[in-house]
Amino acid sequence: MKRRVLIIGAGLAGCYLATQLQTSCDVIIITKGTRNDSDSMLAQGGIAAALATNDSPAQHAEDTLAAGQYHNSLAAVEQLVTTGPSLISQLIKQGMTFDHQANGQLDFGLEGAHRHHRILHANGDQTGAALTSFVQQQVQQIHWLTQTTVLELIVKEHQCCGVLVRHSNTQKTEILPADVVVLATGGLGNLYPYTTNDATVTGDGFALAQRAQVAITDMAYVQFHPTLLMINHHCDGLITEAIRGAGAHLVDENNHRIMATFPQQDLAPRDVVARQLTAWQAQGHQLFLDISPVSNFEQRFIGVTANLDRRQIPFRQTQRIPVQPGAHFMMGGIRTDLNGQTSLPGLFAIGEVACNGVHGANRLASNSLLDCLVSAAKASQTIKDGPNLLQPLNLTALALQPQRSGPITQVSVPSLTELQKRAWQQLGIVRQPAALHDFLNWLAPYQLSKLCPAQLTDSQLTVVNLGLCAQLIAKSALAEPTNLGANYLVRES
Ligand SMILES: Cc1cc2nc3c(=O)[nH]c(=O)nc-3n(C[C@H](O)[C@H](O)[C@H](O)COP(=O)(O)OP(=O)(O)OC[C@H]3O[C@@H](n4cnc5c(N)ncnc54)[C@H](O)[C@@H]3O)c2cc1C
Repeated sequence: MKRRVLIIGAGLAGCYLATQLQTSCDVIIITKGTRNDSDSMLAQGGIAAALATNDSPAQHAEDTLAAGQYHNSLAAVEQLVTTGPSLISQLIKQGMTFDHQANGQLDFGLEGAHRHHRILHANGDQTGAALTSFVQQQVQQIHWLTQTTVLELIVKEHQCCGVLVRHSNTQKTEILPADVVVLATGGLGNLYPYTTNDATVTGDGFALAQRAQVAITDMAYVQFHPTLLMINHHCDGLITEAIRGAGAHLVDENNHRIMATFPQQDLAPRDVVARQLTAWQAQGHQLFLDISPVSNFEQRFIGVTANLDRRQIPFRQTQRIPVQPGAHFMMGGIRTDLNGQTSLPGLFAIGEVACNGVHGANRLASNSLLDCLVSAAKASQTIKDGPNLLQPLNLTALALQPQRSGPITQVSVPSLTELQKRAWQQLGIVRQPAALHDFLNWLAPYQLSKLCPAQLTDSQLTVVNLGLCAQLIAKSALAEPTNLGANYLVRES
């Protein structure tokens, strides 16, 4: 009998894993929305890999470690930079098309804190959609469960042996047994009011793991992207860093170059740029990206141009785009080994929800799509070799305990708007211990960890999951002894 593997999440990590397992295992991808709802589909800049002739994995590793402030796991970085290029070459052989220069060579872009042009991109700035769709087309022998939300992990005798799901259309819950469960649920950007993340990316994987007492690490390290498109205090998409790689500058309303005094200027690591922009904004300045130095902007950044046109931003006349930092990526997450195995047997985590230490204290731009491929490839090898569990498990023994199921009841949770507002002020780019304590004291009376997911509405569940993530971030930030990368505390003297 084939092993049954439940993959939670339809982004690049989950779908790439499915391609690796589809012939040897019985694979089901469960996803909250449609196949198109994920951060992977939104990725713009590209995927980093040392494939250019003047580049090497060792140099890619050095840049990854420097951006991560050497908080990274050396073994995980080594695995990323050495395994990644061959996985990309395989995808190219299978027919994935990245952008080329006129001479037929692959066109490598540049992004912050990379010493080389090493970012492969597809359809200009629509790499994520091109790559994820390509991988999804390779997934043919699996079963899809869309519009289905995983509410809880089923754990028996210290082994993950399935999940509890709720189907959006019927609101019916169901237990799905499995030999292996893989969390590929992405990050938690929607904890913050300004975010680049897809609406379905609401920290569920971290909350699922926490409820099952699975080890989670480094949650203080939230990456804020310096340049979200801002219109009337609302974020309307990402302005990719590749535009700064192509020569654009961050300026204020007086055309003053905000990053001019920093060693890497506009291409400094994201935490450095986001903090400087926040400080500048706090002095009452507005923030813009000056695109006048970028040649062929509209041809090179097709997706961004279309978005700017959709929002009627007069960038052709002004050569400026209004920007603002916002939540983008989670470096921490469910602790895994190099094969994606978590602290709970039978449970794997890959992609953004996982933390094998590869990103350290600050992710290097365009390393995340690469990590999706590498972490999925490594997990697939271990999963194929793992034991079959389904036969010996008695399914009736998996029935939920009575107090954890039942009809949706009245519960008291904060509003999403209030949670996001407080998270931005107290768990944002620059933090203070007193504010972190205030945040924890405010949330504690809601006793979020005691609420039963099956008894919550979908919107309550979103708030509860994000609230649990927020508590993990606050506690982790308070526990970190020093400021490093994205975790920046102003400590009272
Ligand atoms: C706008 C934007 C631009 C980016 N640009 C780049 C880039 O150029 N290069 C780069 O390397 N990285 C980039 N990133 C980061 C990168 O896209 C992500 O880190 C990566 O795609 C995460 O992939 P994933 O498969 O781990 O998760 P995701 O792609 O986020 O997929 C998570 C999936 O899980 C599903 N899900 C969540 N919870 C549940 C649940 N409870 N039940 C069922 N399903 C659930 C979601 O609906 C989704 O399908 C960007 C991110 C954003 C938001």
